[in-house]
Amino acid sequence: MSDVIDIAIIGAGPAGLSAALYGARGRADTVVFESALPGGQIITTDWIENYPGMPEGLNGSRMGELMHAHAEKFGAQFRTFAHVEEIAGEGGGFRITADDESSLARTVILATGATPRKLGIPGENEYTGHGVSWCATCDGALYRDKAVAVVGGGDAALEEALFLTKFASRVHLVHRRDEFRAAKCIQERCYDNDKIEMHLARVPVEIAGHVGRVTGLELETPSGEPAETLEVQGVFEFVGVHPNSELVKDLVDVAEGGWVMVNGSMGTSYPGLYAAGDVTDTPLKQVVTAAGQGATAAFEALRYLESGVCPL
Ligand code: NAP
Repeated sequence: MSDVIDIAIIGAGPAGLSAALYGARGRADTVVFESALPGGQIITTDWIENYPGMPEGLNGSRMGELMHAHAEKFGAQFRTFAHVEEIAGEGGGFRITADDESSLARTVILATGATPRKLGIPGENEYTGHGVSWCATCDGALYRDKAVAVVGGGDAALEEALFLTKFASRVHLVHRRDEFRAAKCIQERCYDNDKIEMHLARVPVEIAGHVGRVTGLELETPSGEPAETLEVQGVFEFVGVHPNSELVKDLVDVAEGGWVMVNGSMGTSYPGLYAAGDVTDTPLKQVVTAAGQGATAAFEALRYLESGVCPL
């Protein structure tokens, strides 16, 4: 094995782990850099029930562990807890700096995913970790027999609202429009759940608290209706995500919002640099699409290596 990595994968969520499996099985020297534990965003998801072939579903952390073990079994190497600081073009390949150490790579697959957005309202920063949360799996059990609010109208908000009914006495689901964007089957389950109370066309404006703990969520209502305050001990925010594309924003074309632009082969505008999963500008953000994109990116990286274009 030379000192130059064939395929450097940044990020170990479903996209990165799938790319690692395909790269390693293609007998490329495949190294995954991950700043946290392998699994990515699915670690904070209680149950994944839309991955084909798993009709009973699977816990998100467990799925991450299995994907990691699968890639490792076929020879992918992992630099866990390695924080990548820079990716720069060098000698027709790439120099990757992580924790002040640098490595050369012939190709890079960026699979850095996305990070939950914040509401940006008063009280949010003050009560982060003291009632304001972005992870129901991590914090849900703290709200046994308490009332909580969940903000958002997408898959994450509705799935996590359902999960929180296992603990909370009441789950107030707050959405700024009168129509959800989550999958219809999840909407039906939320409407059928007696613990979930819908607050549609309501915009959160302030998180209230007392002696260091959340006590309420203030909502702006449509004009003509009085403002409302929900008495809750927890506020869970699921108002979308933003892409973790800082590392490559000066190297590749990015769309509005920072999503990395990719072609059908997961190639970016920079030769030898591929992207896969939630960091890309592709519309469907699912475990199954991330895994498929990771496989495609690795397949294309292998073809690029075989073509001999890279001088490294
Ligand atoms: P999302 O689908 O982008 O939904 C974000 C929700 O937050 C939207 O309903 C949006 O309202 C609302 N919102 C945004 N900014 C807001 C603000 N400032 N104040 C109040 N509400 C605000 O995000 P997500 O649910 O986090 O999901 C991210 C991606 O992952 C999606 O592609 C989703 O399909 C996928 N995902 C899939 C699954 C699954 O398949 N099981 C699970 C989780 C996530 P509007 O509707 O009015 O825009």
